[in-house]
Amino acid sequence: MKENTIPVTIQEIISKVIDAPEEFTPMHIPIFNEREIDLLRECVESNFVSSVGAFCDRFESSLVEFTGARRAVLTVNGTSALHLSLILAGVERNDEVLIPSFTFVATANAVRYIGAIPHFIEIEDQSLGVDVTKLSQWLETTTEAREDGVWNKSTGRRIRCLVPMHTFGHPVNMDALNAVAARFGLVVVEDAAESLGSYYRDRHTGNDSLCAAISFNGNKIITTGGGGAILTNDDDLADRAKHLSTTAKIPHSWEMRHDAVGFNYRMPALNAALGCAQIEKLPDFVVKKRALAARYRAAFDGVEGVRFLNEPEWATSNYWLNTLVLDDDSGEAQESFLELANSEGIMTRPAWTPLHLLPLFSDCPKMDLTVTETMARRVVNIPSTASL
Ligand SMILES: *Cc1c(COP(=O)(O)O)cnc(C)c1O
Repeated sequence: MKENTIPVTIQEIISKVIDAPEEFTPMHIPIFNEREIDLLRECVESNFVSSVGAFCDRFESSLVEFTGARRAVLTVNGTSALHLSLILAGVERNDEVLIPSFTFVATANAVRYIGAIPHFIEIEDQSLGVDVTKLSQWLETTTEAREDGVWNKSTGRRIRCLVPMHTFGHPVNMDALNAVAARFGLVVVEDAAESLGSYYRDRHTGNDSLCAAISFNGNKIITTGGGGAILTNDDDLADRAKHLSTTAKIPHSWEMRHDAVGFNYRMPALNAALGCAQIEKLPDFVVKKRALAARYRAAFDGVEGVRFLNEPEWATSNYWLNTLVLDDDSGEAQESFLELANSEGIMTRPAWTPLHLLPLFSDCPKMDLTVTETMARRVVNIPSTASL
C-alpha cells in the first residue's frame, strides 16, 4: 500500500512548496526581461551578429570573472565544447575515455566524434557523480601501466581521459578524483554543462581539471538559446581551442590559410549578447535556486519513502535541477509518481536512460553499474525554475 500512497504524498508536498501551481509548471524555463532585448538590439545595430564581435569578448570576460578561470572560449553548444576539450586533452581514435553511464548522451557522443570509445564507470548515490573509490579499484584490477599511459588489459586499448560530470549541478569530489587520475596518468576534463554557479570547496567547478565544458542550452541555469564554453587555466590550450573553433584560420587581414582541419564551432555574437544579459542575473538565480532547494528540503524532511538530494559536503551547488530519490527501486513508485505529477500539470522527469543500456553503446567497456541502474529507477527531477 505504501508504494501507492507515496506518489500522492510527494505530489501534494511539491504543490505546496511551489505554491498553488498554475495550469502547468515546467521543469526549468529561461527568465528574460528588457535587458536581454536591449543587448540583442545593440548587437543587431552593431552589425556584428556573427562569430566576431564585441559581445563575444564581453561574454568571455564575464565568464572569466564569474568562474575565476583564467580563460573562457565560447562555442556553439556544450557538445562542441566537450568535443574540442577531448581533442585538446589528446584523445585519439581508438582510445578509451572514462565517463559515467549516468549522464546526458552528449558526453558519450563527444567521445565517439573522435572515434574514441566510451568506457562507462559507476556513480555513488550521494552526489550521483563518479564513485571514485570504485573507479580506483576497477582501474587497479583491469589496467596496466605502460610508458605511454594506462592500458585496458581486456580490450588492449589505451585509456586516455577521465570525464567527471557534475550531475544536476552537484560537484564530484574532485580532490579524490584527481588523486586517482594522477595515479593512473589520466587527463581530466570536466563535463560542467550543468554546474555553472556550483562550487567545489571554494573553487567554481571547471577549475580542477585541464579544461571544462559548460552549456547554455535553453534548459540550463542561464541560456544563450544554444551555446557553450570551454573553461581553462591554460593560455596555450585556450588559444588552441579558439583557433580550432574558428576553422583553424591563421590570423591575417585578407589571406585565407588554415593549418588544421578545424571546426565552425564559434558562438555567434547574437547568442553572446543574450549571454551577457543572462550572466548579470546568474548570482540572483543561484540564490533563488538554493532557496527553492531549501524549501523542498524542509518539506521532504522526515517524509517516508523519499529523500531530497542534498549537495555533497564538499560542495555548494547551484541546484540546477532539484532531485528526489525514491526508496522503491523496482521503478513502480517512480512510474506512478511521473504519471500522477505530469497529469496534474507538474512537470517531472526521470534522469537519463543509463547510456550503457542504449543499443548504440551496448558494446562499450564498463564496470559494474548496479548503482547507476538502480538510481535510474529511483530518481525524479522536479520543477526547478529560479522564479518558483
Ligand atoms: C546539456 C548537457 C550537455 C550538452 O550541452 P548542449 O549545449 O545541449 O550541447 C552535455 N552534458 C551534460 C551533462 C548536459 O547536461
